[in-house]
Amino acid sequence: MTVPALAMNNGVQIPQLGFGVFLVPDTETKAAVQTALEAGYRHIDTAKLYQNEAGVGAAIAESGIPRDELFVTTKVWNSEQGFDPAIASFEASMDRLGLDLLDLLLIHWPAPDLNRYVDTWRALEKLYAEGRVRAIGVSNFQPAHLQRLFDETSVVPAINQIELHPLLPQSELRAFHAEHGILTEAWAPLAQGGSVLTDPVIAQIGERLGKSPAQVILRWHIELGNVVIPKSVTPSRIRENLDVFDFELTAEDRSAIDGLETGDRIGPDPDTFSRV
Ligand code: NDP
Repeated sequence: MTVPALAMNNGVQIPQLGFGVFLVPDTETKAAVQTALEAGYRHIDTAKLYQNEAGVGAAIAESGIPRDELFVTTKVWNSEQGFDPAIASFEASMDRLGLDLLDLLLIHWPAPDLNRYVDTWRALEKLYAEGRVRAIGVSNFQPAHLQRLFDETSVVPAINQIELHPLLPQSELRAFHAEHGILTEAWAPLAQGGSVLTDPVIAQIGERLGKSPAQVILRWHIELGNVVIPKSVTPSRIRENLDVFDFELTAEDRSAIDGLETGDRIGPDPDTFSRV
């Protein structure tokens, strides 16, 4: 299975489809990531918050896959925002992952009430300048938060990882990203396994194409140009979610899926969420 790669704004390539591990307990993470690597995934998305970086690192260490064929993302949690705390957070994540070079480091949420994301970004810029990370980005940033980074710092984020699925396609934010050379990465690409997976519109498209609802939705993301990181602990689903590169949706399929938009979020509102 060959997953296409997208070039970020600094030329570094990111596999367009990766494996998310939110809510996977550390004790189960090694096995899940091993299954994903065996299936052909080469991109893993974790975070300090998920408390499973050690499991990710163990699976990578035992895989025997050359490090430069893997792409690993982790994130700085809200409680570690600020210049020095963000550097310390990165060092601790790297110890848990057992890595000396990270592919992508993200600020997990803007947490605007804390008002520390600009200082946090300067820490990420330093790590990037020192060659400790191959790319830096953000997550859950709204245009106003990105604009502050453009105005007050030097490096334009490579990626913004945001909640995005057929119920919340984020068209305006995606257009803003495109205008500024930022890739869009979709979290909860399957709407966390919710009702969209049983939606008759998706089911009908899948029946015609001989594909599952999850595969239809992941294909929709790929055709939009999103980086996508579905999570599963179920081996058959882990393999199924990667098998989305041998078919295409029609323009009618895409507009039928676009019609599912409700604008409803599953996760918190980035303008107000500042939990530490
Ligand atoms: P997803 O949209 O990936 O959905 C995961 C759920 O869908 C699980 O319950 C899983 O079940 C189920 N599922 C997976 N594949 C299938 C399938 N083929 N058929 C039916 N059900 C399926 O949600 P996530 O929230 O996990 O998002 C993906 C990743 O994004 C996270 O793991 C994390 O890495 C990242 N993320 C980032 C956030 C941020 O703030 N930056 C916030 C949330 C997530 P099961 O595991 O039981 O198979």
